[in-house]
Amino acid sequence: MACQTMVIIRMHHSDGIEGLGEGTTIGGLAYGPESPESIKRNIDTYLAPLLIGQPSQNIHHARALLNRHARGNMIAKSALEMALLDAQGKRLGLSVAELLGGVRQDHIPVLWTLASGDTAKDIDEAMLRLEQRRHCDFKLKIGANPVGQDVRHVAAIKEALGDRASVRVDVNQAWDESTAVRGIQALQEAGIELIEQPIGAREHAGLVRLANRFNVPMLADEAVQDARDGLDLVCSGFSGAFALKLAKSGGIYGALELAHVAQAAGIGLYGGTLLEGTIGTAASLHAWATLPTMTWGTEMFGPLLLQDDIVVSPLDYTEFGVSLPPGPGLGITLDEDKLAHYAR
Ligand SMILES: [Mg+2]
Repeated sequence: MACQTMVIIRMHHSDGIEGLGEGTTIGGLAYGPESPESIKRNIDTYLAPLLIGQPSQNIHHARALLNRHARGNMIAKSALEMALLDAQGKRLGLSVAELLGGVRQDHIPVLWTLASGDTAKDIDEAMLRLEQRRHCDFKLKIGANPVGQDVRHVAAIKEALGDRASVRVDVNQAWDESTAVRGIQALQEAGIELIEQPIGAREHAGLVRLANRFNVPMLADEAVQDARDGLDLVCSGFSGAFALKLAKSGGIYGALELAHVAQAAGIGLYGGTLLEGTIGTAASLHAWATLPTMTWGTEMFGPLLLQDDIVVSPLDYTEFGVSLPPGPGLGITLDEDKLAHYAR
């Protein structure tokens, strides 16, 4: 990508510490009700004034204050919580993962999305990533074409890669339930390992039916924003996996609350992205690092899609995954010249 808009938070604390945060979404208003412009405007107008004068070190208090006075705005809240945690870590000399109780895993698996739409091209790209030891799990975004066409494309890629790679699909809510039954049956026969959000976000009952009907697991993404959604799906009989995203749950604490519901219910975890840059991706990594395992890995590849970065040291992607950045807070330092160059 040559262009991505990120809202970068620089939160100044009275003890001289600066906390960094990031609020990013996909394609303006295409993903959800927040745009980069609304994130910035709502922080400046409503959320930042709530935090000014509050104690820096009580993040639970700040979070409760924001939630009491502002509905929704989960990306904006996530960005602010990130900056509070980054500052607290810098203050105490601890990484954010250490603040959250400690690191269970410091190298996190990262998959890659094959998105050219051209079967041969996608196979070549997957082979290259395998050879580079960059990625060994691949996700295909489907649902825009007729089911038969999508299934042929995905099945050909799985057949070419064989056991060397895991191939999953994300339908992004594109199917109705009967189309999903046809599509998932064929994808299961082709050896696809995970079906992400095949039907509409609010169709919880349908998602539960699909989870019970097929052996291939369903990954709930848009259907599960936070712990309440997770609990509702579990109580309705869902099995499979949940996609965690800081931006869906209003930050690290909200995402971990959902993770804990999943763990209690035997639901697998997957680390999702809204294509954040390095700051937001690092924050996600600190959260996932505190969990014992991410059964389905993560898609923490946002920084790999960008041609340039606004941080001094980019994240280290090796051995089919990414390493938790070292150092206090998020472990990220802004490159002031780059930030000034790209600011608008
Ligand atoms: Mg998704």
